[in-house]
Amino acid sequence: MEKTFVMVKPDGVMRQLTGKIIGYLEQKGFKLVALKMLILDQALAEQHYAEHVGKSFFPGLVDFITSGPVVAMVWEGPGVIKGVRELMGATNPAEALPGTIRGQFAVAISRNVIHGSDSPVSAEREIALYFKPEEILAYTRPTDIWLVE
Ligand code: UDP
Ligand code: MG
Repeated sequence: MEKTFVMVKPDGVMRQLTGKIIGYLEQKGFKLVALKMLILDQALAEQHYAEHVGKSFFPGLVDFITSGPVVAMVWEGPGVIKGVRELMGATNPAEALPGTIRGQFAVAISRNVIHGSDSPVSAEREIALYFKPEEILAYTRPTDIWLVE
């Protein structure tokens, strides 16, 4: 089954939005298969955001993402990679649609509360950065028969 990497960023944790964000993805029907809380060090932050090295916002982004705890997760479900990106909303919360996570909970691009992998290649890379294979759980929910065929 398709999997994606999702992270509640330090602003989301500090603003006590973790429960709401997890609840939102649960309510959709996606399955939480791995979760940990950690504080990113410089090296992990730079690996996570490797595609943005050299951009003007990169130093600020690394400072921010290492500034406090994050909640790192793997979510599973049909179309979960694109599905989570759509539920997150646009990178700039000012452009995010009202029902989305960023649309509901954020106003600034540098404090947009959630990260989600943007493609299958990113998902695989990011999951491996944070989780060992044995930390990703396979299990059946009683609701699976009502959510996925
Ligand atoms: N970001 C920023 N300023 C910008 C562009 C991006 O602070 O001008 C931050 C923002 O937190 C964003 C992250 O860098 O979530 C990664 O940027 P990306 O374009 O990958 O957006 P995302 O995939 O998170 O929607
Ligand atoms: Mg991105």
